[in-house]
Amino acid sequence: MKPRRGRVGRAILVVVLGLITAAMGAVPGHSAFGASKRSATTPAGPAVRSIRVADVDELHRVVSTGVDLAEYVDRSPSSIEVHAIVTPAQVDALEARGFEVGPALFTRADWQEVARAYRRTKSAELAVLRVTDDVTIMRADYFKNKHGRFLSVEAKTSSGDIPDVTMTAEWNSGSGTPMGSGGSASMDRFSDAGVYMYHRVLVPVDERPSRVKVVSSEGGRAGKNVVEWLPDEKRRRLAKDFITNYMNPTEVYDRIESLADRYPRLTEIVELPHQTHGYRRKAQAVIGQTPNAAVVVDSVAWGHDGGNDLSVEVVDPGTPNSPLTVTVAGDVISVSVATSPTGQPASTAAHVSSAIDSQAGSVVDTFLYRNSSGSGIVQPHGEVQLSDGLDAPPSISRDPFTVRALRIGRHQDGTRTGVLIYSQEHAREWVTPLVSVEAAERLLANYAHDDRIKRLVDNLDIFIIPSVNPDGGHYSFFDFNFQRKNLVNYCPPGESDLGFADSWGVDINRNYEVGSLFDGYFGASTDCTDSVYSGPAEHSEAESKNVIWLADQNPNIRFSMNVHSYGGYFMWSPGAYEVPGRVPLLRPTLGEESYFWDSGSSILRAIKTQRRTVIWPGQTGPVIDVLYSAAGNSSDELWYDNEIFAWNFEVGADVWNPSAERWEPVGFQPPFQNEGHQEALEFATGVIRLLRVAHRYAKDESPPSSSARPAPGSYSGSVGIRFVTSEPADIYYTLDGSRPTLSSTRWEAAGLRESGATITLDESTTVRWFAIDVKGNRERVRRARYVVTP
Ligand SMILES: [Zn+2]
Repeated sequence: MKPRRGRVGRAILVVVLGLITAAMGAVPGHSAFGASKRSATTPAGPAVRSIRVADVDELHRVVSTGVDLAEYVDRSPSSIEVHAIVTPAQVDALEARGFEVGPALFTRADWQEVARAYRRTKSAELAVLRVTDDVTIMRADYFKNKHGRFLSVEAKTSSGDIPDVTMTAEWNSGSGTPMGSGGSASMDRFSDAGVYMYHRVLVPVDERPSRVKVVSSEGGRAGKNVVEWLPDEKRRRLAKDFITNYMNPTEVYDRIESLADRYPRLTEIVELPHQTHGYRRKAQAVIGQTPNAAVVVDSVAWGHDGGNDLSVEVVDPGTPNSPLTVTVAGDVISVSVATSPTGQPASTAAHVSSAIDSQAGSVVDTFLYRNSSGSGIVQPHGEVQLSDGLDAPPSISRDPFTVRALRIGRHQDGTRTGVLIYSQEHAREWVTPLVSVEAAERLLANYAHDDRIKRLVDNLDIFIIPSVNPDGGHYSFFDFNFQRKNLVNYCPPGESDLGFADSWGVDINRNYEVGSLFDGYFGASTDCTDSVYSGPAEHSEAESKNVIWLADQNPNIRFSMNVHSYGGYFMWSPGAYEVPGRVPLLRPTLGEESYFWDSGSSILRAIKTQRRTVIWPGQTGPVIDVLYSAAGNSSDELWYDNEIFAWNFEVGADVWNPSAERWEPVGFQPPFQNEGHQEALEFATGVIRLLRVAHRYAKDESPPSSSARPAPGSYSGSVGIRFVTSEPADIYYTLDGSRPTLSSTRWEAAGLRESGATITLDESTTVRWFAIDVKGNRERVRRARYVVTP
């Protein structure tokens, strides 16, 4: 096995090879093709890559494309390999012409390491060698919330793959004030799955800055104007605040049933077809002595159905040479152990286990404790009661649960744009059902006297599943407050004693079929006790099947909100990527992404009206960019498979502690007074605004209008153009004068969390394009002539 070379070793090799190739023209005998990729990421800038050609004629064709060739040619009998310094765009162009281009051999980052090493070892005079990177500020947002004023900055450097690159932001204190007068702060590096994303910082400020500057340790710098994130809106007068306390799932469903009774003209209860497992278990006891002399005894009946009445005793018969016997008398199982010639107990756990199975198999099943050998001798002990370990009062049903949706709308015939709100996939997120119930109450209570609410109910078809995972929800209320998953246990016997009970279950939001663990996506587990256990298969669980059933049955549903807690996030797809490489599910188009931002900031402004909670810009965006990869989550399935604009709330934004000068998390079950209550009210306001977004979409019949900037005319050398649209929309364009269609080039973002890329025209060009909004309304084709003089 060859030794691996580290980064620095490779970088030094660049210099040595450079000298040799410069002197000798070529170094034969090695190839980049077939070698593993050096890095999972593709460098954004130029890099040295191999190009393989068949013969000298083809080599000349490469040369004629004008690429920057290194002095490196490796001739083998069958082909010629050359090295060239090429940008990703040039790679695309070369590949389009049929050339075989290898992976990046040497990048700018490699050179920067060499230059930095050089700087470190040189005198101050020589160390002025600057390695300047490109810095891009993606967002600079100012906001006011109930705690004060804050500035949020996101910026990235082209040297992001260097781990110790640092970035500093500074800002002024309003227009006309000097840069830096507002303050400065070092930015935090944000990486995910080993891939550099960007740097970010969120700091309190005294005054609203108008401009920020970001400087990197590599010398790059950039500036940007600060915009206000979520400016204040007036609060609307609506009947609200229908929630007086936390509610367990039984109470939640009782409440929506009573709403349906009170408003029969506007509502319908939709029973979802897949009943859950139920808040129930087999009763269990461990007899003998753990680990090796212990037997786990499970009732055949459910605990509430007689299992909890059973008990087991282990008896010493008191006479030598007794046989092992098991008898059942009423609810008591009596194990009389075998004894030795001297009268000592002599039954192993394995023997006791099989004796119980054969003599009491109609009432109990047994297995050895945690995969032990069962070779220990079971010592007698008194009666042990079996228990299912479930503490909820008898008023909580132990039967399989019928999950229901409350359907609200004046017209429930499938002709209106549908919206799906669903809460509590994760059992412990107690505020989330309250958000759903509060929103439903507001719609119904205000229908008769508020025109805007009436328009929503008259023109939309609203489906609310207040608790997707009621079994887990009951368990979280009465047994283990941190329960996240459902109550289905897929663990093998070794992990099936009640000591594991709080770890059983399937993570419903990892059990869907798009971007799942089973498809190779990251952020779920195959371990039955893991908090993100995906279950044994996609859609194995009733809870996830119900959500998808509802979406499939009602194709008019075009919007959804998956309500979770906590942390204060507003997110959309993609929500999962594959590793290595951090390859995400297909990203939304520029038009879709801008629709998400646009609708999102409207929804977040509405949330802010309740108590001035601001969801940060840094927590707004695709799940994988602001949180983490979550393989097999529901909103990805709704977006990719059902073509629904699928969003996720994480309610419960951090609260600023002014004395400690830090943000503090609120948790899954914050005190109801002042926190849980307020979260429910503010995010219910967000749900109502989502309905307005959906209504606006439903009504939208007008095409977007667009223009190209700068204006058409004469430009010398080249001109970079961009498009401006009247509403979020995609642009399809051509540069060869032909009529654009939906198969033409689509205008794409310049990068992660950036707007559209500049299109550079090097020669006179007629640009033809049209804009199309997310509803599919399409502008007539437009044209602009750019004359470019050398
Ligand atoms: Zn959750």
